[in-house]
Order: sequence, then structure tokens, then C-alpha cells
Amino acid sequence: MSFELYKRALKSFPGGVNSPARLLKPYPLYVKGAKGSRLKTLDEKELIDYCLAFGPLILGSANDYVTEEIKERLELGWIYGLCTEEEILLAEKIKKYFNMDLLRFVNSGAEASMNAIRAIRGYKGKRKIIMFEGNYHGSYDDLLVKAGSSMVGLPSSLGVLEDSTKNTLVLIYNDVEGLIKAVRENKEDLAGIIVEPIACNMGLVIPDFEFIKALREVCDSYDALLIFDEIVTGFRMREYSAQNFFKVYPDLTTLGKVIGGGFPIGVFGGKEEIMKKISPQGNVHNAGTFNAHPISIYAGLKTLEYIEKFNAIDKACNFAYNIGRNLVKMVQDFGLEARVNHIASMFQIFFTKGEIRNFSDVKRCDSEKYLRFHGEMMKKGVYLAPSQFETNFTSSAHNEIDLELTLKAMEEALRLK
Ligand SMILES: *Cc1c(COP(=O)(O)O)cnc(C)c1O
Repeated sequence: MSFELYKRALKSFPGGVNSPARLLKPYPLYVKGAKGSRLKTLDEKELIDYCLAFGPLILGSANDYVTEEIKERLELGWIYGLCTEEEILLAEKIKKYFNMDLLRFVNSGAEASMNAIRAIRGYKGKRKIIMFEGNYHGSYDDLLVKAGSSMVGLPSSLGVLEDSTKNTLVLIYNDVEGLIKAVRENKEDLAGIIVEPIACNMGLVIPDFEFIKALREVCDSYDALLIFDEIVTGFRMREYSAQNFFKVYPDLTTLGKVIGGGFPIGVFGGKEEIMKKISPQGNVHNAGTFNAHPISIYAGLKTLEYIEKFNAIDKACNFAYNIGRNLVKMVQDFGLEARVNHIASMFQIFFTKGEIRNFSDVKRCDSEKYLRFHGEMMKKGVYLAPSQFETNFTSSAHNEIDLELTLKAMEEALRLK
């Protein structure tokens, strides 16, 4: 069934899909529906889901409370081109957990990153941006960059102009010395730094606290601004944010994924003096037909309400901890050349001997082996992140039975090696 649909899809979509990471080999899965921790495909396969739409589904799929609330809300219409009370309520909730005076709702993580960069450039009147190899901030030209021979980024996609990337410097994640050197050398024209405070787009890379501290210090010393991309980590950590976890606070934060409850959303926000430059208060342009879309806002609001009421994030984190701890033990017991990283509601296994601290380390992994592991797990009814360069996510809907089935499947799949 999925295979037949894929053949048809190839006639409508480039590569048969609408986002590259959905292209599984030999063919992508077509979903019939999803509930809680389980996905059901049109091939009538039921899978325990650890991809969770690449992060947003912290409550799993179709949480009963959120579903009922959204159904009722739809009766009131779903977009007006005017304001709603709920957008204020969601903003107030978000501001409890993030260093934000003012914020703007947009439609995706990519838009959030683009606007955050525009905001700091507009505020500072400077051009250069620092980012880190292996971090991902969305499909936005200035940040679609790979490391060049110097620090200056080269386009990582055809169609992205060198004019867009020549002011983006690409540094090595977790490298404090490289960071300080780059900031010092570029301080004249440096607007700021954008970083994933926990890297979730090269597998899962947990930074040294020293690195996170250095980011703040070096920005303060050289008059640059710091942006934390918390599009994944926002409302996926026990402390609700990486900034609260590290107690290191950025000037601007970008959010997405969880805060829309699984509907399209993005947020950028932070210090008043920067954010008041955004139109219509200031002259840094941002506008959008779908900005603060009432259904995304409402789904986000109800999701955050549920999280606060039922400690949903703690549940998801406990689950990931259990998987992570058991995976570490399996790797030891079976004498595998593998590493396990886990934190908050995320985990990943890397098929390598070495430590995983930056993008080069991840590239050295046996990613074919990961795909074989992924395939074996899928046969056993477990859908893991589909690449060594992605992260596994847990939700509050994952339960004891899921844990038992998953660990048993992992044990069998890892023993095959
Ligand atoms: C997913 C992601 C984005 C992009 O979000 P979209 O909604 O897909 O545009 C940006 N940053 C990080 C860290 C992400 O994981």
C-alpha cells in the first residue's frame, strides 16, 4: 500500500515527499492515524513512535483533552486577520519560562530564525552572524551554510547565493577557543551568535557547560547578541527550557515545535530594546497572514496547560532516561562500538567508538549501521528517528508496555550486530 502510494507520489512531488527527512528507504510510510505513542500506517502496521513528527508531540498524538478543546474551538472560526485573547495567554505562559519581554508569533521555526537574525542585525546595524556546524535553524538562506576552508560559510544548497552566506561564520560546536578567536577577529561587524543550546540536529549532542557559559561571556565582552534556538528544547526539558537548565540566558530565543501543540508555529522574542525594533513598533519588518494562527495558538495553549497540570514533561523525561540508561547498559554488556547520548526527553545511539562532541564526530559514525538498526527496529514495531543525524523523542503518552517492547526490540536488534 505505502509502496503503491509512493509510486504515485513521485509523479506529484520532488522525490515523492514534501520534506526530505520523510523519505525512508525503500519507500516512505503513509500514515492512517496516530494516537498516544502509536502510529498506524496504511499497511496496518502499528509502530511505537520515537520520531514524534521530529519533536512537537510532547503529549503524543491526539491527546484527548487537547483534541476535545480544539474541536470546540473550531466552531468559532479559525482565522480572522484580527487579534485574539488566546495569543496573549500563550505569550504570558511562554514568558514564564523564557527570558523574553516581547515576542512575535510566526509560522515555523525557519521563520523564527530568519526574523531573529533580522532583528539583531537591524538592532545592531551589523552584518555578521556566527553559527555552528551541525546546528540546524530551518530552511533559511543565510543559515543554509556549510563550513568552508576559512570560517566563512559556503552555501549548502544550490540556489543559495554566496552573498547570503558570506556574512555567516561557521564554527565547531563545543570549541571554546575557536569561539573566542572568531568573535575577537570579527567583533567590528558581528551582530551575534545563533546556537542550539543542546544540539538536536546532528543526533543528540550535549554541550559542555563551559561552552554555553563562554557563549554568554564572549557576547558580553565583545558587544554581540546571543540567540538560543530552543525550537526543540523549548518545553522538552524538566526546567522547560535549556536556558533555565543551564541558567545561562540569551538576548533572543526562538521557539517552535511543542509550543504549537503539533500545529504550525514559530516564535522569536527576547529583550525589549531589541524586540521593540520589530514592526509596527519599529522598522525591522515582520508580518504574516497566518501569524498567531488561532488554532495553533489554542492547541499550544491547551498543550501547555496540560503539561503544567499533569507534569507531562517529567513523564516524557523519565521515559527517555529509562531508555537511555538501558541502552548504555546494552552497549556495555554486548561490547558494542557505540555511544549513547540522552538528556531530558531525548536519546540517541551512535555507532562509533569515539566521543560525540561535534559534527565531525557524528560524521565519523557508521550511519549505514544505524539505518540497519532502524530497519530492524521497525520490523519489531518501533519507529526510531530515521537517521543517525536525527534525535529520538519521548512523550508523556509512552507507557510501561512501550518501554518493555522497545527495550526487548533494542536488545534483539543490537545483538544482531
Ligand atoms: C525543526 C527545527 C527548526 C526549524 O523549524 P521548522 O518549523 O521546521 O521550520 C529550527 N531549529 C531547530 C533546532 C529545529 O530542530
